[in-house]
Amino acid sequence: MLKYYSTGKEEKEKYGREAFEKVLRLLEEHHKWFSESIPLIASENIPSPAVREALASDFGNRYAEGWPGERLYAGCRYIDQVELLAIELGKKVYDAEFVDVRPISGVMANLATYIAFANPGDLMIALAVPHGGHISHGKLKWGGTAGVVRHLDVERYEFDEENFQIDIDGTRKRLKKLEEEGKKPSIFMLGASVFLFPHPVKEIAEIAKEYGAKVVYDAAHVAGLIAGKIFQDPLREGADAVTMSTHKTLAGPQHGMLLSWNKYAEDFKKIVFPGLHSNHHLHAVAGVAIALAEAYVFYEDYARQIVKNAKALARALHERGIEVLYEHRGYTESHTIIADVSKYMDGMKAEKKLEEANIILNRNLIPKDYRLKTDYRTPSGIRMGSQEVTRLGMKEGEMEEIAEFIKMVLVDGRDSKEVAVKVREFRKEFQKVHYAFSSQTEAYEYIKIR
Ligand SMILES: *Cc1c(COP(=O)(O)O)cnc(C)c1O
Repeated sequence: MLKYYSTGKEEKEKYGREAFEKVLRLLEEHHKWFSESIPLIASENIPSPAVREALASDFGNRYAEGWPGERLYAGCRYIDQVELLAIELGKKVYDAEFVDVRPISGVMANLATYIAFANPGDLMIALAVPHGGHISHGKLKWGGTAGVVRHLDVERYEFDEENFQIDIDGTRKRLKKLEEEGKKPSIFMLGASVFLFPHPVKEIAEIAKEYGAKVVYDAAHVAGLIAGKIFQDPLREGADAVTMSTHKTLAGPQHGMLLSWNKYAEDFKKIVFPGLHSNHHLHAVAGVAIALAEAYVFYEDYARQIVKNAKALARALHERGIEVLYEHRGYTESHTIIADVSKYMDGMKAEKKLEEANIILNRNLIPKDYRLKTDYRTPSGIRMGSQEVTRLGMKEGEMEEIAEFIKMVLVDGRDSKEVAVKVREFRKEFQKVHYAFSSQTEAYEYIKIR
């Protein structure tokens, strides 16, 4: 305290100026680093330059509470038109009756469904985290959103680890047991953060009907694949609502979106505002509209190549001795693959060494960690996604090269710094965003507007 009051005007200006410049310098360095790296984090992507333009627009400084045309603020002439377009595009891309583009993230969209379809104390069935579940589906004990915010009780699906899929018969048995304890589910949550194969939406929807429960499908990871008409079509298969992040395979800005049916529309409208948001990040809504327009035109090609690349990367790693899981199922039907690296090092070490080599991915719990009760900080696995490298124009041949770089680090124990030099060279020719309307700007180009 004393120091703050005794700091002179000049010292304050010096500190402020230095911090100001440092932040801007760090931003630029980050852009440069990513332009020279192999981005494999399965939950991220590079949006098109047009999306980045929307994010830098004045929409980000405004409010538009309510529904387009029924706002509580003036100044929404253009904002309303953009939001209505985003809704219209969302309906076209996902063939949905009701679309709400206001949830500011995937977690907020999930929360909206917990409020619409369950009351505090109600039971939700969801996947455990080592089976791919997301913390926003989690119970109070784990600090999960469902438990912490909506006070839902959460029980897990029975899971077939051998095949990485929900065990329907086992889950039925589990539900009978819960029923004997007087517990009946209100929500069946599907969707995951390690989402390798389509989920059994039809089968779960049938079970849900017996309990008078609703099915929510969290498409955060696979929204771009569904837009590209690959993977699965949860609304047609029986989901009452689909939630998503708009920045993973969908490659839009960081935001959320909710799809549902007209019969739930009025409930969701009120829950999303005024229930959960005031500001809904209008610059991001514009970015979502742009990403959806791109998805409408380009994503059948994009999604197909994402899945081809994921399978190619899995195969190439496997050929080099790295244990990619679920070979007998073709490794994956999505953008994501998981590998057990525990025979070389724990997932944390692998993540660090690869990061030093400019290969950016994350450590991950894998099914065997559930049995071994492995510490989540040092899991046995790593997770990789093909969506961002695909967006940069890479094809199956490049997946071979990426697998070779990963092998150099994990299997051969080569010096990460040496591998980074090779990665930088490899990355040089992949600097544009593909599967988007054309642009002058490079994917990770830093744009100064100050
Ligand atoms: C990433 C993810 C989310 C969270 O999305 P945010 O947009 O970051 O809030 C929710 N659910 C699943 C399954 C995810 O993987």
